[in-house]
Amino acid sequence: NNVPPGIDPDKLAALLDRERAMWTDARPRTAALRERARRTQLHGTPQHWISQFPPPVPLVVDRAVGARLYDIDGHEYADFGLAATAALWGHNHPAVVAALRDQLDRGSVTLWATEDHVTVTEELQRRFGLPYWQFTVSATDANRFALLLARVATGRERILVFNYAYHGSLEYPESTKVVEFNDLDALERAVAPGDVAAVLAEPVMTNGGAVIHPDPGFHTGLRDLTRRTGTLLVIDETQTIPAGPGGCVRELGLEPDLITMGKCVAGGIPAGVYGMSDEVAAAAELYTKDGDGGLGSTLASGPLAVRAMRAVLTEVMTDETYAHMNRLAERYEREVAAVIAQHGLPWHVGRLGGRVSYAFTPTPPRNAGQLYPRVGAAARDALWLYLANRGIVLNGMSGAALMSPMTDESDVERHGELFASVIDELTC
Ligand code: PMP
Repeated sequence: NNVPPGIDPDKLAALLDRERAMWTDARPRTAALRERARRTQLHGTPQHWISQFPPPVPLVVDRAVGARLYDIDGHEYADFGLAATAALWGHNHPAVVAALRDQLDRGSVTLWATEDHVTVTEELQRRFGLPYWQFTVSATDANRFALLLARVATGRERILVFNYAYHGSLEYPESTKVVEFNDLDALERAVAPGDVAAVLAEPVMTNGGAVIHPDPGFHTGLRDLTRRTGTLLVIDETQTIPAGPGGCVRELGLEPDLITMGKCVAGGIPAGVYGMSDEVAAAAELYTKDGDGGLGSTLASGPLAVRAMRAVLTEVMTDETYAHMNRLAERYEREVAAVIAQHGLPWHVGRLGGRVSYAFTPTPPRNAGQLYPRVGAAARDALWLYLANRGIVLNGMSGAALMSPMTDESDVERHGELFASVIDELTC
């Protein structure tokens, strides 16, 4: 199942060998640094998953500028991976850089608030609708605290997530219930006993290398079922901010009890936030009245991160930014779809605002379970390497592409040409 339908296995194997050799041969400094790193890092990488990305020796970045990466062997890449949404606005957006420069001389962490904190929570309330907000260091932490508060507010233990959802490196207890996305019947059965504190969901699933849209009526059903059974709804917007300036919550008109996000909210400075309803806030205030209650951490809401958040919310997440991202993503999607159609491949390409990805299924998947067992690992690696050897970097894990306000249209055009030529080479 390494070879998706439409691809010639022999051509794929030959291309993969050639592209792996080409990658390593052109990167002597990168290879030497990997050997050095092996002596002090697990798998020779600072985070274990980098070792699972397609290149035989992982990219070592010299600098990241705009929507481009430059490696230590002198190669330049258009970066469509954008740190898996954390660098969505580009690596050095001028508004974020100016904000950080300004704040560096005024302190990075104080454990007291600045005026920016209020500006930021006001803006979050305005965009996403929920009244009360708190800060964290990451999206993982935002989800952890949201689930804790859901349990506190409901007095229930169990959590429900959709199959193959990823919400950070959380410990899911054995009591977690799992149903397929878009399956309201299964959801109804799972929440009926009244023992689920919260459903934690991405509004549009972005994991598993695909964009999985909700069926018409799915979100209405999800909200009805959760309300009816006293189950809270936590919407994780971490990877769906590319959908629009108020995320999917605004695009789809959702009414969650809690919202979590992280990654790009502070333009690349570690930060997350979570918002909550009046009811959850009332429970949270009681819970935290006489101590810390296990919420928060020292580095959360440091003025440096919050100054960056203010810049992102007030200067970067504008309609113009989204218009540019959408226009480029539409072109990227159109060019991939044309190649798929031209070769009659049973694949499809999906998009959510500035996020695009192709999947080796003939129709858009309705849930992530349909994507497993994963088809086409070798083809995914081959596509990634072919493009990267020619200056285009996609997400190392899923092959997804993100458009930033700093992405050049010429890079999208180049992707389209390269995608056409690699598919020409690989098809039967
Ligand atoms: N939520 C979602 C939907 C995610 O995809 C991720 C990470 N990919 C997270 C939360 C966790 O983010 P982080 O690793 O930055 O804490």
